[in-house]
Amino acid sequence: MKNLYLNKTQFNAELEKCLKCPAKPCMKACPVHCSPHDFIAAAQNNQMEKAAESIARQNVLGEVCGLICPDHFCMKACLRSYVDYPIRIPAVQAYIMKQARENKWIAYPVDRTQKEKIAVVGSGPAGLGAVTEFVRQGYAVDVFEQDERIGGALNLIPYNRLPREILAYEWGLVQQNPLVTMHLKTKINSYEALLQDGFAGVIAAVGEQKERRLNIEGENLAVSYVQYLREPEKYAADARVAVIGGGAVAVDCAMSAKNAGVATVEMFVRRRLDHMRITQAERQMLLSGGVDITTMTRVAQIEKQNDKLVLYTIKTQFDEQGKLVDVEKTVVPRGGFDRVVLALGSTRGEEIYNSARIVFAGDVVQGGSTAVEAVASGKNAAQILLENLKN
Ligand SMILES: Cc1cc2nc3c(=O)[nH]c(=O)nc-3n(C[C@H](O)[C@H](O)[C@H](O)COP(=O)(O)OP(=O)(O)OC[C@H]3O[C@@H](n4cnc5c(N)ncnc54)[C@H](O)[C@@H]3O)c2cc1C
Repeated sequence: MKNLYLNKTQFNAELEKCLKCPAKPCMKACPVHCSPHDFIAAAQNNQMEKAAESIARQNVLGEVCGLICPDHFCMKACLRSYVDYPIRIPAVQAYIMKQARENKWIAYPVDRTQKEKIAVVGSGPAGLGAVTEFVRQGYAVDVFEQDERIGGALNLIPYNRLPREILAYEWGLVQQNPLVTMHLKTKINSYEALLQDGFAGVIAAVGEQKERRLNIEGENLAVSYVQYLREPEKYAADARVAVIGGGAVAVDCAMSAKNAGVATVEMFVRRRLDHMRITQAERQMLLSGGVDITTMTRVAQIEKQNDKLVLYTIKTQFDEQGKLVDVEKTVVPRGGFDRVVLALGSTRGEEIYNSARIVFAGDVVQGGSTAVEAVASGKNAAQILLENLKN
């Protein structure tokens, strides 16, 4: 966990880079309107607790997001990049929130006014964002989570990027509020039934529950990325693993395999390396981690031969319209894999139908996004629902 955080010298060096831009572009770029301009100023004045409070006020997952936020929000807006490099704002935030956790600085106020009860379905970042808005305004909230763990898709992020105790701690701060009741292993099949049961309103923050498939022969021989990322250690004895997919989820599968000790990990990607929807840091991680990447290649079939798996691959190319198509007569069997991981991500598993008392939030609405965007979406959905309840 040590290398996840800046050390004190690095932290101070990042603070010194702040140009104190009056327009606060970093805050404007943050989906939850956290203000790096202000928390950096507080930290420069040695007011670390004030810095942490300013983060927690906007983002209930302040430390989690500090560890996993991509570089395309505040960092992309940081004007320091015109001088040399942008401030590593998420890392600065993680450092501050780690101090807050260790010193127990953050406590959310408890409002005991008995108001109506709200149901929040899903305990991912969007659900959590919504819960904090409700309790802040004195509403009791019941959270329904089908899984045995809180946190939603954050539980699939490899431990070395996001230790689960950070997530548990930040959720715990909210959960200890007497207005919050948690129901784990409770799947909700009807939001209307919750209204009939007496809840004044429902937030559906159910994420993307339908895994993407290839619809190819032998697909059932592959394990899904959800299975794989939940327990990568279960597959540590594999010597050779193939990962199908070229996005951030596939990167996490490939790196999890490598970190679990798998000797050879090969990614199969339909597009070019520079077309992969991953960040510069993720690309770097794959290269330095020794992951093989086979690009412009489609897996057309999976077959079992003896104890090993064989992938039948076809080369791809862009046609005149820019569409990705197969290149004829390029089928190649690639044998010898112990495991094939299907890492294409997920899509929405249900229809969205917002009404006055049922509001959807998070990835189920906006597609595979980020934790910070999901928190923002949950907060917005809560505000919409509260506004509707007044009318
Ligand atoms: C492998 C992986 C790596 C990622 N890496 C990053 C990263 O580095 N940085 C980043 O910012 N984001 C990352 N993300 C994305 C981030 O995790 C998601 O954007 C975020 O979790 C979405 O939040 P959500 O609350 O909308 O949905 P989810 O987190 O999916 O939560 C939805 C919850 O609803 C529950 N649920 C669903 N249906 C029901 C029901 N009927 N009844 C009860 N409960 C139900 C589910 O069990 C789940 O717990 C990653 C995602 C994955 C999969």
